[in-house]
Amino acid sequence: MKKKLIRNNIILLLSAFVLFFVVVFIALYQFEKNNQTQFMSYIIDEVEIAYQNHTGDATDFISSYSNDNGRRITILDPDALVLADTHDSVIGTDKSERPEIVDLGSVYVRHSATIDLDMLYIAKLMDDGNYLRVAVPLADQAVAYNRVVWILIMSGAGLLILYYVGLKEVNKNLLTPWQQVKKGMISLNQGKFEVFSLNSPYPEINDILHEMNGINLETAKHVRTIQAYQMQLNSILNEIKQGVILLDHQENIIYVNEDAKVIFDLNDDALNRPAYYALRNPQIKEAISTANLDRKSSTFDLKHKGRIYESRIFFVSSDQNMESETTVLALFKDVSQERSIEQMKRDFFAHASHELKSPLTAIRGYAELIEHGLVNNQEIPESALQIVKQTETMTALVEDMLMLSRLESLKEKLFTKQDLKAILMSVIEQMKPIYKQKKIEIHVESEPVQMMCDLLDIQKLFKNLIENSIKYSEENKKIDIKLYLDKDSFVFDIKDQGIGIDLEHQQRVFERFYRVDKGRLEGGTGLGLAIVKHIVMKYQGDIHLESGLSKGTHIIIRINLNQNN
Ligand code: ADP
Repeated sequence: MKKKLIRNNIILLLSAFVLFFVVVFIALYQFEKNNQTQFMSYIIDEVEIAYQNHTGDATDFISSYSNDNGRRITILDPDALVLADTHDSVIGTDKSERPEIVDLGSVYVRHSATIDLDMLYIAKLMDDGNYLRVAVPLADQAVAYNRVVWILIMSGAGLLILYYVGLKEVNKNLLTPWQQVKKGMISLNQGKFEVFSLNSPYPEINDILHEMNGINLETAKHVRTIQAYQMQLNSILNEIKQGVILLDHQENIIYVNEDAKVIFDLNDDALNRPAYYALRNPQIKEAISTANLDRKSSTFDLKHKGRIYESRIFFVSSDQNMESETTVLALFKDVSQERSIEQMKRDFFAHASHELKSPLTAIRGYAELIEHGLVNNQEIPESALQIVKQTETMTALVEDMLMLSRLESLKEKLFTKQDLKAILMSVIEQMKPIYKQKKIEIHVESEPVQMMCDLLDIQKLFKNLIENSIKYSEENKKIDIKLYLDKDSFVFDIKDQGIGIDLEHQQRVFERFYRVDKGRLEGGTGLGLAIVKHIVMKYQGDIHLESGLSKGTHIIIRINLNQNN
């Protein structure tokens, strides 16, 4: 801009100069012409007076005329034939065609072949009918004229240099503030505010800069507010634990939050690219198109990389004229856990109703037999016993279900200091009638173990495991139980010589209602080991199971004694 400004100014100045020179030259030319005419008229008058005062003829006059000033004097007869000439001895040459003869009284510049110089000519008709012609060398006259021209050119060039230097200074003063403004605008674009110094020699520019300082300050404030909002919005969108993707009219991605980047393996390169290339899922593509074109929302479960995402894709209001405006919002929420809990609940209710139905059907059967008098008096006690047994099964089932529900829902830990050895001994004591009946020997090795825990949990843990070992062992077998401290943990180790669990079932026995042999009469509710697993999970311990068909079962449980209450 600076160069352009200087160039334009110089072109303008040069044009002005050329015009000025042309005008001055024309004026000078006119002036010089008038000057020459006056000068030549004066000379010719002077020569005429001398001629008239002379007594001899034309040749005498010419011979007597002193010629030390370089003037050429010619006397011509009325037919313009040379009578006498100071520089030419040839008499009788016809000069009637010469312009000074044709146009008497006017000054002409011509090259004189006789003298070989550019000369000024003037002629006039004298009283005796002869013509007097006077010529003066042009050089004498041109010297002054050339000097004036040179002075003009030199002063013009000097003026031009002065003008250039001045112009540069003026330009600097004019341009510096705008360069400052440009720098300030770039900084503003980056959210930084710069104050323009008001040091221009032009008050008008200072006024503008002052105004711009005010505008910049306001803009910077707004930019900062917008940036703060953006950051807040970003952190909200990243904290909602959902994948968020925004798309424009062309279904190009214009925003992806951190969760969405992780879900779909995206990075910032995905921005401003068609959603389909980045997300590569026909289900999502269709939902986006439906939202964009038909303005209809869709909600569906998306199975992606082994997880389930509840996907909600809907149209958001937009300005059709603004191409980059958000049109479609896509939300992806990881619901894998919810869906598996829902499935577990459905399975649980199906299993629970099934398990409750069997004893209920049996009770009803016995009751109907009694009702219709199909049971004789001797059989009534047996029927009643069966009804009681089925009721006990149902009670055990309900108790186990309540225990499981308690373990799942009770977040508050009501821990008290417990003596684990005492709990173990009391559980074994309760079991005595059952294992004595099967002539099973229980061998216990226990260290005193104190721990902050829930009494009911530890009771249930020991009871379920000992009960299983008794239940799944034949008569006359032995069960070894150890309770001891190991570093910060206590270890409960129970080993039986029972029927064992085949490898294929070992993972599943901890599931609710899972029983290896469903037809087995001695089988329980199928919730025993599920409860054990939940208790161990509650205390962040671990379970180790070693077993094999007919090889007995060995279960080791390790729980840290330092529990955060
Ligand atoms: P149940 O009430 O049927 O005993 P559990 O959840 O306690 O249910 O056990 C699940 C299944 O694991 C049982 O049905 C049984 O087949 C097997 N099981 C558990 N403990 C033992 C054990 N000590 N020896 C052999 N099998 C066992």
